Amino acid sequence: MKHYSKEELELYRNHQMSVLKRIVCAGHLNECRICSRRLKELEADDLFLNELRSSIRIFQEVQKKKEHIREC
Ligand SMILES: [Zn+2]
Repeated sequence: MKHYSKEELELYRNHQMSVLKRIVCAGHLNECRICSRRLKELEADDLFLNELRSSIRIFQEVQKKKEHIREC
């Protein structure tokens, strides 16, 4: 059985795979623990990145407010 690479799973996740490939991949993910775990890991990475991005945004907003206070 051929397993999917992270790159391929990334394509699958982002709907960049052709329909036929997606169907085959979905079928494989249903049966393969290794690949479905890999896919979950990618999603966890994404979640982590999103959290990181939102905390950076909050940080930047706080910085802006600080600058504003200084101006006043
Ligand atoms: Zn697999």
